[in-house]
Amino acid sequence: MSQQVVTRIAPSPTGFMHIGTARTALFNWLYARGRGGKFLLRIEDTDRARSTPEATEAILRGMEWLGLDIDGDVVSQFERATRHAEVAHQLLAEGKAYKCFASQDEIAAFREEAKAAGKSTLYHSPWRDATPETYPDAPYVVRIKAPRDGTTVIRDKVQGDVTIKNDTLDDMILLRSDGTPVYMLAVVVDDHDMGITHVIRGDDHLNNAARQMLIYEAMGWTLPVYAHIPLIFGPDGKKLSKRHGATGVEEYQQMGYPASGMRNYLARLGWSHGDDEFFTDAQAKDWFDLDSIGRSPSRFDFKKLDNICGQHIAATENAALLHELEAFLASTGLPALSEAKTSLFKLALPHLKERAKTYPELIDKAHFIMVDRPVVADEKSAKSLDTVSRGILKELTPHLQNVSWERTELEACLNAFAEDHDTKFGKLAAPLRAALAGRSATPSVFDMMLVIGRDETIARIDDAAA
Ligand code: GLU
Repeated sequence: MSQQVVTRIAPSPTGFMHIGTARTALFNWLYARGRGGKFLLRIEDTDRARSTPEATEAILRGMEWLGLDIDGDVVSQFERATRHAEVAHQLLAEGKAYKCFASQDEIAAFREEAKAAGKSTLYHSPWRDATPETYPDAPYVVRIKAPRDGTTVIRDKVQGDVTIKNDTLDDMILLRSDGTPVYMLAVVVDDHDMGITHVIRGDDHLNNAARQMLIYEAMGWTLPVYAHIPLIFGPDGKKLSKRHGATGVEEYQQMGYPASGMRNYLARLGWSHGDDEFFTDAQAKDWFDLDSIGRSPSRFDFKKLDNICGQHIAATENAALLHELEAFLASTGLPALSEAKTSLFKLALPHLKERAKTYPELIDKAHFIMVDRPVVADEKSAKSLDTVSRGILKELTPHLQNVSWERTELEACLNAFAEDHDTKFGKLAAPLRAALAGRSATPSVFDMMLVIGRDETIARIDDAAA
């Protein structure tokens, strides 16, 4: 049996969850979930100034909203510092790392001289091969003994084979002079201890991979499979930033995009499955693999996001959609729907959910449900409530008293009524929209009538006609 896949997302807490982190998390989640594997979360919280509980919360909220469930407990990198140091000490004991007593001033002076002489500024510590008898009683850092010749090849699933000449790598520091481990060591030890089999992350970490591999090799650990994915660009081909639009996951949640649409859209950012644009989670889990990740940066296309989210809202089953709508209202601090409005929403959803890209759009289309009598017509729709049309509306209500409250009957009734008044239903529609919803753009008049029912329809028309 092949080994179980274990992936992870390892965000540094920055105060919010960037859309790029969300995409990386999604890829890791899809890869694991599609293979019966595990998806873990590690917070890279060694930068104590930025690593506030709130910053971690923001990541957890983003993951939860996106529906990216994690296995096991959240791992804190900072809390594992002792273990990271232990690995450095093991390498030291095995002669694969060494104590370097060079002071920072010495190294800085070396670099300056090398630069002035036009030579490589890569520092080669004189302590690499020193014997313990020569050690001074002074602070030291622990450095790895990196190979000086040959090459390191990162066999990357996205980038292909990336070859790094070993003479461009220095003896990287593993432990600082205060004994604390460096980030590069922490990542490797954590990934190893967490049993990570596949490291799928942004290609801004590709250079780190070569140095991290040295630690794997020194420890005799099996390398993970690497997949370094290109970053996300804005529509103009520059790195995605606030200039282009929202970059935080929570902003999309607040704008009312459905999480399912967001997952679908983010999956398409840099990965493809033939020409498929719209797909379900089940399909994405089934289809996702590392071979179909593109090598060039993807561009965030806000129109496409809208389009895909609209398709997801339309495809969501009514009860589930209502649930999502309620969660949206709660998350944005908007008042919850009353029981009465909820029942109306249930009736209206099949008509409302076509062509709404976000929950606020859906709620806007449901304005006729959200308003209470007397419905106040907005400026534009009020224009269609002149004396003539108010007179016609007044005549209409008795006809509505007796008609059976079904679409075909209502249509027949209103068409006949329009004909009697030498006009077409189209002419009646504007004053009816104004009466029922107080707006000129609404769902179909019949849909609104059927949803709010006979009594409310007649009462709103009477209000408008008065
Ligand atoms: N903490 C890194 C970041 O947020 C990710 C490191 C990794 O995936 O190895 O970019």
